[in-house]
Amino acid sequence: MNIVCIGAHPDDAEVFAGGTCVKWARQGHRALLVSMTNGDVGHHEMAGGALARRRAAEARLSAERGGVMDLVLDYHDGELEPTLPMRKRVVEIIREFRADIVLTHRPNDYHPDHRYTSILVQDAAFMVTVPNFCPAAPALARNPLFLYLMDSFTKPAPFQPDIAVDVTGVMDVKWSMLDAMESQVYEWLPWLDGTLDKVPTVCQTTTNCADRAGRREWLEKTWAPLFTEPTKKARARARKMVRKENGGQDPICGDLRDLRVWESAFDGGDQTFVSVLSGEAGVIWLCPRARPHGGLFECAASSVLSS
Ligand SMILES: [Zn+2]
Repeated sequence: MNIVCIGAHPDDAEVFAGGTCVKWARQGHRALLVSMTNGDVGHHEMAGGALARRRAAEARLSAERGGVMDLVLDYHDGELEPTLPMRKRVVEIIREFRADIVLTHRPNDYHPDHRYTSILVQDAAFMVTVPNFCPAAPALARNPLFLYLMDSFTKPAPFQPDIAVDVTGVMDVKWSMLDAMESQVYEWLPWLDGTLDKVPTVCQTTTNCADRAGRREWLEKTWAPLFTEPTKKARARARKMVRKENGGQDPICGDLRDLRVWESAFDGGDQTFVSVLSGEAGVIWLCPRARPHGGLFECAASSVLSS
C-alpha cells in the first residue's frame, strides 16, 4: 500500500502523522511525507535559500530516522496559493506515488499554507482519476482514500476523529524524527511561543549547558500534551461510540482483537477498508492500552473526502 501525507511545511506531516507513517512503513507499506513549501521563512534569524536547504536536510534526516520517504517541494513558504498549476502538481504527486491513502490538513487552519494545501488536495481528490487531466502522469484506476490530519481548531467545527492510531510503541522514533527538525522544534517554534530561553542549548565548550539528550528530553516534555490531549478526547468519543455499537458495553481497552480488526482493515486496501472508514461497517476504534501516561495518539481521520 502507498500512503502520501501532504503537509504545508517541512515538519507538518512529521508532527501530525509521523508515528502513523512509521507504523505503516514497519508493516511493509510505502509512506511518503510531502511538504508543499520549502519552509524558507520559518525562522526568526535565517531565511531564503540557506533556510530552505537546512530544512530540506532536516526533513531528509527525519525521514531516514523514521524509515519513510520525503519530498520537499521548492515553493516559497507563506506564498502557497490554490492555483491550477499547483493543483496539477498535487495530482501528479498522488498519481506518481500510486497513492492508496492521502492525508492532509483540514481546510480551516491558522496558516494560509495549511489551508491552501488542504484545498489543493481536495481539488486533486477527484481529478487523480480523470485520464485526460494531466495526461502525462497516468491516472489512478481507483480513487485513493483521503483523510484529514488531526488539529486543535474548533471553528467552524472541532476535529472529531473517526479513527485513532495508538503510536505509543513508535513514539521513540517519532521523537527522534522531530528532534531532527532542529530549526523548528528548538529555534523557530519556541521563538514564536516566547520560550526560546527555556530551550536547553547543545554543549559546545562550556559546562553550563545541556547536552543533546537534555534538549530532546525538553522536547518530549514540552510537546507531549500535543499527543496526549487527543488521547483523552479520543477515549471519551470511542467509549460513547463503541458502547452504542456494543449494546451499551464499554470497549475493552487494549483488546488485541481490536488491533487485528484495525490491521486487517489496512492490509487489503479494499472495500473493507473503505467501508470501515466511511462508517458503513461501524467505526473501528483502537483503544489505548492502560498506561501510566495514558497512551499517545496521533493522526485521526475526521472524514472521508471522497469515496
Ligand atoms: Zn506548517
